[in-house]
Amino acid sequence: MSYSYFNLKGKTVLIMGLGRFGGGLDAAQFAAGTGAKVIVTDLASSEKLGDSVKELEKFPNIELHLGRHDEKDFETSDIIIANPAVPGNNKFLQIARNAGRHVTSQINIFFELCPAKIIGITGANGKSTTTSLTAHLLQNTSYESRATSYDNIWLTGNIGNQPFLTAIEKIKANDLVVIELSSFQIEQLAEIQRAPDIALLTNLTPNHLDRYGTFEKYCAAKEYIFKYQKLDKNNPAISIFNAEDEIACQWYEKYKNDKGRRCIKFSADDVTEEIRDCYNLPGRANLSNLAAALSIVRNFGLTDDSIKKSLPDFKALPHRLEIVSDAGGVRWYNDSKATTPESAITALNAFDVPIILIAGGYDKHLPFDEFGRKIAEKAKAAILIGQTAQQIAKAIKEKLKTKDSKLKTVIADSLSEAVQSAHRLAESGDVVLLSPACASYDMFENYEQRGHQFAEIVKSFKDKNNFSLL
Ligand code: ADP
Repeated sequence: MSYSYFNLKGKTVLIMGLGRFGGGLDAAQFAAGTGAKVIVTDLASSEKLGDSVKELEKFPNIELHLGRHDEKDFETSDIIIANPAVPGNNKFLQIARNAGRHVTSQINIFFELCPAKIIGITGANGKSTTTSLTAHLLQNTSYESRATSYDNIWLTGNIGNQPFLTAIEKIKANDLVVIELSSFQIEQLAEIQRAPDIALLTNLTPNHLDRYGTFEKYCAAKEYIFKYQKLDKNNPAISIFNAEDEIACQWYEKYKNDKGRRCIKFSADDVTEEIRDCYNLPGRANLSNLAAALSIVRNFGLTDDSIKKSLPDFKALPHRLEIVSDAGGVRWYNDSKATTPESAITALNAFDVPIILIAGGYDKHLPFDEFGRKIAEKAKAAILIGQTAQQIAKAIKEKLKTKDSKLKTVIADSLSEAVQSAHRLAESGDVVLLSPACASYDMFENYEQRGHQFAEIVKSFKDKNNFSLL
């Protein structure tokens, strides 16, 4: 059954999964605006959901059924909007389908309603950076230099709690949407055989295996972003693959001869030195993100000159190798978003100067062997905090080649103590890097709070020591 989603008077819409990150809230507010009766259900309690609940209490046509799911809601609501975290084969969604109810999602409604061309970006790592960089380049280039011009560039999706359904009425046919997509959202889109007009995969590494079971299944879910693109000879779908990723290269070969599709490959090596010089984000991973963004924007006629003009203004996203101070010639980076050993290794690889690393946190029972090896190879000092401090210290010790290695390992009781130690050890030219390799829940509410506190503590040093802060 198809619905006119803008007018749902007399219908009941059930939002399954409110969450704390805005997705359910946006869907509920959108549904409330259509005149429908809205029920929001979540397994979490009202206290756990916090501010999202407070926001919804303002709407007279929204009911909250929290702390559990009620089968009856799924049997009787006309439309069920499922959170991306809910797998498609969830028991309650099956109940709704068996009762003939329309099961959909926030992203599916967005794709069905969006009148503008959509650029969709997915991947294991670098999604947010590539998505915002693409939008930045498209937004900050003068229209004269573009072959095609668009009225507005929208940055949305799985990024920074941006509302998308509640913004849909503002999006016009001559706009362009740049959207970050999680693999869960791509799976939801596959249910209605939809995918973006321009699709890019940053890279693939084992992730979310708790949901997918195997890496193959996870890859299959990601592949839908290409598989369901609409092939059209007059207006070809554009599919963009990472030349440095083995599976992506196989997909490139598989899709490259499709009629109505244009396949492109990108690699960090493709970025010219001139463009590289205008880019402030450190490390090869960020160069790969730049190559990815360039491979998109070049389809819109952006010239190298215009790119070189707008690129220097692009700053790292908060908590992702974000420079927070360069006091006294020491660069302090907040990479609090690095919650796995793999991402902290990427951060360590980004610098060729002495690094004082601050790492450790909540114990997710991940192995630290590789991380220990990388610290032993690259760091001048490791200052360790949180539940995993001793484990990381042990991993480093095992990897140190000689007993008289100069690497200093310090265990600190708090982030503040860690920053003080780093400050004592740092010399001009060094980098101090908070890249914890662990989640933050043992000492902080989330990685954002950890990153903010780091920046605050560094700032307090600046105030005491008269340092300059960026
Ligand atoms: P995502 O949105 O996929 O989580 P982000 O752009 O937010 O990615 O970056 C998160 C972290 O992932 C960064 O701090 C960095 O450590 C790592 N990262 C970013 N880009 C890449 C990349 N292209 N390859 C590998 N790791 C990356």
